[in-house]
Amino acid sequence: MKRAIYPGSFDPVTFGHIDMIERSAKIVDELVVAVLNNSAKNPLFSVKERVSMLEEITKHLPNVKITFFDGLLIDYARKIDAAIIIRGLRAITDFEYELQLAQTNRIVDSQVDTIFLTTSLEYAYLSSTIVKEVASYGGDISHFVPEQLMERIYQKYAEVRNRTDAKHDCNGSEQ
Ligand code: ADP
Repeated sequence: MKRAIYPGSFDPVTFGHIDMIERSAKIVDELVVAVLNNSAKNPLFSVKERVSMLEEITKHLPNVKITFFDGLLIDYARKIDAAIIIRGLRAITDFEYELQLAQTNRIVDSQVDTIFLTTSLEYAYLSSTIVKEVASYGGDISHFVPEQLMERIYQKYAEVRNRTDAKHDCNGSEQ
């Protein structure tokens, strides 16, 4: 059985990621979408929230499984017996880092290969960062993420704003 891993932050998942998942799922027998649990990246959504979003939008894909991992991707790929890592290439800016990563991983374990899928043109500009930027100002994100996830993203920014306001109130009353 050909098992591949598609790792990422997915903070939050976008139409670009979904396109990658749907296309990859057609190529391999089983696709494990693995959410990187990296607190150093200071993600907006918890791992649990990101896993839940991915589960919701991949319900229609029977050979796709959602998990999360800590530490080195190559160790996790070995642990789950995945011989393929799938990554997306949007632009030349992605290329240098991705190449370095893929080559490093092959030195660590030559049994695990990286396959790159080039982005679909309509999503070439799209990143989680863009989604967060627009959502943080309450802008329209319907072109970037599925409708059923939009409310969660706006809700998250409402929580962040409430927390920030509460902090300011506290600091103000201390003066
Ligand atoms: P990371 O933090 O590892 O870059 P991301 O969640 O940003 O994680 O992306 C995960 C993977 O999805 C990466 O391989 C990235 O290149 C790819 N990807 C992200 N956005 C798009 C997009 N719009 N089109 C195609 N691939 C994408």
